[in-house]
Amino acid sequence: MTTTAPTLTAEQAGADLRAFVDASPTPFHAVAEMTRRLAAQGFSELLEVDRWALRPGDQRYVVRDGGSVVAFRVGTAPLADAGARLIGTHTDSPTFKVRPRYDVRRAGFRLVGVEPYGGLLAHTWLDRELTVAGRLALRGGELVQVVLPGAPLRLPSLAIHLDRSVRDGLVLDPQRQLVPVWGHDGADDLLEALALVAGVEHADVVGHDLVLTDSLPAAETGADGSWIAAPRLDDLGCCHSATLALLAAEPAAHTQLLVANDHEEVGSGSAEGAKGSFLADVLARLVAATGGTDPQDLHRAVARSRLVSADMAHALHPNFADRHESDHVPSLGGGPVLKLNANQSYATDAGTGGWFAARCADAGVPLQHFVTRADLPCGSTIGPLTATRLGIATVDVGSPLIGMHSCRELVSAVDVPLMVAAMTSCLSA
Ligand SMILES: [Zn+2]
Repeated sequence: MTTTAPTLTAEQAGADLRAFVDASPTPFHAVAEMTRRLAAQGFSELLEVDRWALRPGDQRYVVRDGGSVVAFRVGTAPLADAGARLIGTHTDSPTFKVRPRYDVRRAGFRLVGVEPYGGLLAHTWLDRELTVAGRLALRGGELVQVVLPGAPLRLPSLAIHLDRSVRDGLVLDPQRQLVPVWGHDGADDLLEALALVAGVEHADVVGHDLVLTDSLPAAETGADGSWIAAPRLDDLGCCHSATLALLAAEPAAHTQLLVANDHEEVGSGSAEGAKGSFLADVLARLVAATGGTDPQDLHRAVARSRLVSADMAHALHPNFADRHESDHVPSLGGGPVLKLNANQSYATDAGTGGWFAARCADAGVPLQHFVTRADLPCGSTIGPLTATRLGIATVDVGSPLIGMHSCRELVSAVDVPLMVAAMTSCLSA
């Protein structure tokens, strides 16, 4: 049993997380940033269309439809004999998706037609410096990633003088009132501007996956600068920790694997989402590509495996402390959070939760617990979905965060090396 001490200081890890988030305005950019970091340390790409042949120690990654990735280090023992240690995260966050016919004209303004994506806190997007990012589909089939520079888009608030009822609570109609302003009637076309930035011909753009994104970089905050205010920390915080952990883990007899799925915020139902076949397909091919010929090998491998489903957790908000179950109150900077739910909104049970607790203890990492109040509904994660689909023993965990699904969420840099150490310990044991 190896003991893994945090190798990064909170300051270093926090700066690295901020750089990771800034490089990842969309799931496509997040996967590109994760694979860039993996490739820099010896991982190379596998294509789903190719025939795979893998050897012990091989470090590879597979991308499905740009927004989901599986990366792995093949164990020295056959998968059926040693199983795998997996970490699961998601790459998407609540936002607004640009509509196909996006050019909205109102009262001398050019606006951008958008549709809400996921359970966003709409009011947190008002009066922020916004832009558009995503990918363009070209006539030849190529997909090009793009970010519009600067902060050209805005969702302005209405003056209080024009609607005094906001004192009783702001209600926003997404169809009429959450339409970002792009310019006056004479402004350039949005897609033409994006094509110019991407270096492609506007006429060649035949489709797009574009979302609104906060253009301001992640920031240090708090009296001692140890907190991080940034967009998309749910779940880029765990994507970042998991990438560092996979890179840090020593090779082992078992296979070490990271899966980051798109579409968690909208129910995971897609080819690349956690309800889809991506992880199951990669695991089956991993068994076959490392010489597993017995039809029972895949099932033996899964039965020997464990998945850490890592998604950010609700830390105590000092102004709303009563929203937490009073004996289960995770705090910012208190370390990884083990999530449990009697109704299986989280997959954690005694075996998997105990295993994670022991791995944290091995690494000298403190552990917090989260359950929801009995009178409040509980969120969920890719954990129960993946456990259901694959039959894999799963534990739900996360780093503490305040303001989940806000345009700007809040975490502590102190938690970053603690989660990296806990995940590294899980991948090593
Ligand atoms: Zn999440």
